[in-house]
Amino acid sequence: MQLQVTPLGTSAGRPTLVRGASALAISTATGWMMCDCGEGAQTAAQRAGLSLARLDAVLITHLHGDHFNGLPGLLGSLGLDGRERTLTVAGPPGIHEALQTLARVGALGIGPLDLKLLELSGDGGELPGLGVESGLQVSCAPLSHRIATYGYRVSLPDRAGTLDVQKALAAGVPSGPLLGHLKSGRSIRLADGRELSAQDFLGPTQKGMAVAYTLDTVPCEGAKRLGREADLLVHEATYEHARQELARLRGHTTALEAGEIARDAQAKRLLLTHFSPSVRGEELAEEASRVFAGTIAARDGEPVVLESVRGSPAPT
Ligand SMILES: [Zn+2]
Repeated sequence: MQLQVTPLGTSAGRPTLVRGASALAISTATGWMMCDCGEGAQTAAQRAGLSLARLDAVLITHLHGDHFNGLPGLLGSLGLDGRERTLTVAGPPGIHEALQTLARVGALGIGPLDLKLLELSGDGGELPGLGVESGLQVSCAPLSHRIATYGYRVSLPDRAGTLDVQKALAAGVPSGPLLGHLKSGRSIRLADGRELSAQDFLGPTQKGMAVAYTLDTVPCEGAKRLGREADLLVHEATYEHARQELARLRGHTTALEAGEIARDAQAKRLLLTHFSPSVRGEELAEEASRVFAGTIAARDGEPVVLESVRGSPAPT
């Protein structure tokens, strides 16, 4: 299995000539989800070869314009495309009112689109049923910014362990459908009346690959929780650490602090994004690498591919 993470916009506050406003795609071979939808996200997605028809959900972190302003345009385009399939939009308190207001004044038309809005509250948790085409699972948790903000964890489902066929045959399981039952995790009854539990013949469950998306925020527990042992933690790094005071004042994280969060969460890799136009992403990645070696600076349109080969040690 493969997960592809494509930054669609990596700038903080406003788009620049080389970085769009915040947006990122997480895709499987069959579908995808968008995290944040800053201005220009829909065209960036199409440039990256992503089909809007296969978009399952848009996960909005907060309602600041650089994360939200592309959403009305995207919904409008899906409406013009005549899309009827459900699109889920998850977002913080106020998202329903924001879209309703735009629709009321005539700024948002969604045609036949079946829009399902999930307005998040409290401590977040699982958001079941979103990955209709992609098969992706989603959970969320609050972050700590200047307004209500939620981060997300997007993952593939866990897979049952490998069946030890020789052991099953030796226990008297005949070749055929009963082996298939064991493989899918179901217990079976043999002709001689013995009941066999699948757990006795399966290897350990294989965790589905996971990507955490945590912006905008000051360093917080929610980001660490979402990023726990994630294959990729996508964290904001608006400024370098020398401007920590400014970062805190504006509700942001420095590159060094993002590295510390990835290290503490034992994430496998860290993708920095949400760069102030006043910084160079590569320099911020270097700064974070002092505490977390597996750090990359996001660049618009340059995907990070995650393969489900597990067992490699987490970078420190
Ligand atoms: Zn922002």
